[in-house]
Amino acid sequence: MTKRILVIEDNELNLKLFCDLLRAHGHETRAVRDGRDAVAIARDMRPDLIITDIQLPFISGIELIESLRSDAALAHVPVMAVTAYSAPGDEERITAKGATAYVSKPIAVLQFMALVDRLLASAPANRAD
Ligand code: MN
Repeated sequence: MTKRILVIEDNELNLKLFCDLLRAHGHETRAVRDGRDAVAIARDMRPDLIITDIQLPFISGIELIESLRSDAALAHVPVMAVTAYSAPGDEERITAKGATAYVSKPIAVLQFMALVDRLLASAPANRAD
């Protein structure tokens, strides 16, 4: 079943990789490169899953996740955080801010898609249609 996935990533190669993978699995994607726009776009799009880089220009992925979690319309949407620079404690810190799951780059394609499927399966229905 087609799901809508919002991808926030400033690295063009990763953005393309994530969107290509998700579309190859039948999902609709929307690509956003700037975290400042992401909450408004998410409100409009009502995604089933949000995938966000942590190292973004202007605002961090952590700030973005906090904004998503404090928005009544978006608080329940699963968020997968992706980061290139993982340090000890990062996963705990990022999930404590509200990320549902955490993956480090470079991603392993099979694990990435398995996690996407798991998060989509666990997400509450977002739309009446
Ligand atoms: Mn980045």
